[in-house]
Amino acid sequence: MIWLDRSKASTPPTLSGKGKLATTKLKRLASNGAKNFTFDGKIYGAVDVRKELRKLHFGKCAFCESLLPQTTAGHVEHFRPKGEVQQNLNEPILKPGYYWLAYDWSNLLLECEWCNSRAKRRLFPLSDPSKRARDHKAKLINETPLLLNPTVTKPEAHIEFINEEVRAKNGSPMGQKSIEVYRLDDPGLTEVRRNKLSLFRALRDLAKFANPQPEVQQPLAEARRWQRKIKSGRSEYSAMLRQNL
Ligand SMILES: [Zn+2]
Repeated sequence: MIWLDRSKASTPPTLSGKGKLATTKLKRLASNGAKNFTFDGKIYGAVDVRKELRKLHFGKCAFCESLLPQTTAGHVEHFRPKGEVQQNLNEPILKPGYYWLAYDWSNLLLECEWCNSRAKRRLFPLSDPSKRARDHKAKLINETPLLLNPTVTKPEAHIEFINEEVRAKNGSPMGQKSIEVYRLDDPGLTEVRRNKLSLFRALRDLAKFANPQPEVQQPLAEARRWQRKIKSGRSEYSAMLRQNL
């Protein structure tokens, strides 16, 4: 995970238009006692929302940093789950979830197929679950989430890499929980990072030639290009590669 600066993005028109109206309706229903809501995926998953999220995320999954193929739209993930919420897998499922944030730009992230099918889902652990906001009148500021939102908190303060292996930095509880819930230590994902790191190291070693032979000019240029992409965050697995530069 890398820091994603939401101040550089703008709220997609679908959310400020249809999303705002739909939120007003949801709040009204909740005030009348409703606990089950239906959400319109055409609003939070609208083309302009995905487009702006892709830009904000450098075309990558917000969690595992895998490149989102151009052929798939990517899944819009609600940081605070909209329909129902759970502190931990072995604890009760609470309804409703954060319904009032279903169309809220600050609550949306884009994720890959893999993270969508295996990771977070309805989990949203807090350091003190008794402080959880249960309706739109409650103040989110009272909550201390245990999960990293890469548009709110700088992930490098909580997560670090030793080669391709991820771990919590200085035992950070937020780092620990995020690794567990987002499954950043999944063996398959770790192997993908390992392969990427091997390739990067091979190219970087070529770049160390002081007077490169003509036949290594191309990989050398590629290594330099890749290093720039890692620094800017546009490369896959930038968080891991930055620590191995
Ligand atoms: Zn992912």
